[in-house]
Amino acid sequence: MSKAMTRRKFFGTTGQALAASGTTVCSGSILEARAATRGGAKGVDYYEKLGVTPFINAAGTYTVLSASTMPEEVQAAISIASKHPVQLEELLRASGEYLAKRLQCEAALVTAGAASALTLGTAACVTLGNEKAMVGIPLDMTGLKNEVIVQKAHRYEYDHALRNCGIRYAEVETLEEYEAAFNERTVMTHFFNAADEGKISREEWVRVAHQHGIPCFNDAAADIPPIANLWNYTKMGFDLVTFSGGKGIRGPQCTGLLLGRKDLIEAAVKNNSPNSNTVGRGMKVAKEEIIGLVAAVDWLLAQDEDAMQKEFERRAKRIAEGLKGLPTVETRISVPLVANHVPHLVITYDPNRIKLTGKEVLEKMRQGKPRIELNPATGANTASKGLESGAHTIVVGVWMLQPGEDGVVARRLREVLEEAARA
Ligand SMILES: *Cc1c(COP(=O)(O)O)cnc(C)c1O
Repeated sequence: MSKAMTRRKFFGTTGQALAASGTTVCSGSILEARAATRGGAKGVDYYEKLGVTPFINAAGTYTVLSASTMPEEVQAAISIASKHPVQLEELLRASGEYLAKRLQCEAALVTAGAASALTLGTAACVTLGNEKAMVGIPLDMTGLKNEVIVQKAHRYEYDHALRNCGIRYAEVETLEEYEAAFNERTVMTHFFNAADEGKISREEWVRVAHQHGIPCFNDAAADIPPIANLWNYTKMGFDLVTFSGGKGIRGPQCTGLLLGRKDLIEAAVKNNSPNSNTVGRGMKVAKEEIIGLVAAVDWLLAQDEDAMQKEFERRAKRIAEGLKGLPTVETRISVPLVANHVPHLVITYDPNRIKLTGKEVLEKMRQGKPRIELNPATGANTASKGLESGAHTIVVGVWMLQPGEDGVVARRLREVLEEAARA
């Protein structure tokens, strides 16, 4: 899939660039923000000590860029929680019950990320009513159902999270093929919520699975906002739904939500840390992270969604304003349909007039002072997650910018493009 390739390339170059950079540049808003964060708080700035320079996030909630940052309320809740020990299972249970109420579903579990939720949810379906099987999977599948039905266009870079449980995929394309694919080995059906393609709708997907009494899972990891998605898909009938805790929800990066049917969530809990000898034992979520995700959900549910989206739009417009008058530069605001459903600024220009590729712009911004990360769709030769891209297209993700940083991004972009226009 083109999308997957784009992301892989992006991971590759980012990793190298991050590793190669040992500078301790820090200026403008980051410096101020870090001074403010340190203000009064006892402790060492270990980014500084380790020589790892933070950047201005003009990309979005990308995993290799450490995704989102947590709102102050969330950081404060984590700090309080970190001071006292608790019974981990009691905390998991209480947080699950609280989240299920707030998110209007039967049951919920805080996991070590959406990918962990995919593994635990699959393990739940495979081992439901058969606890001995928890030790044997993924190698000993004796007597276990092991087929997961999926649309061919929904195969993606998280397949491995499900395959950790010993399953194999049965691919379908048409509704007819889907209906015919169920058999005595079928254990689950899987849906990738933000898939660009696929002929079968969510509603049809759920309806047919339930006709066969088979649970269906929806991976909506990056699909907040809208906030209502937190209950849209469980209400639609999906038996399991996952969201990443560290993307639009803005909790700790190493958390995720597994929402859905009570019996399946209970089975997921049994396959999870702190239970030893389970597929989930390596997916431990600490008390600080559990509390962090609960606090982040509370924070998110208290937000005015329209106001948030308008603020993102204002940031995009301010950056566009800052580029006015540059030769051949055109700007547009674009909102991806499903994942990362927030205003992005898309910038195009005539490469005969501004002699830089998008990739070169991305690299110059990354190496500049302060460091700035543009959206990975910048300069990409294939479309990425509903965002336009092209060799001479720049994409600015504005939703993770801190106050004032839109001005810094505009100024640096202008410098880079102006210099190339003079060349
Ligand atoms: C980000 C993402 C994941 C993984 O989420 P984590 O919380 O990082 O584990 C899974 N599926 C999709 C579609 C994603 O976008």
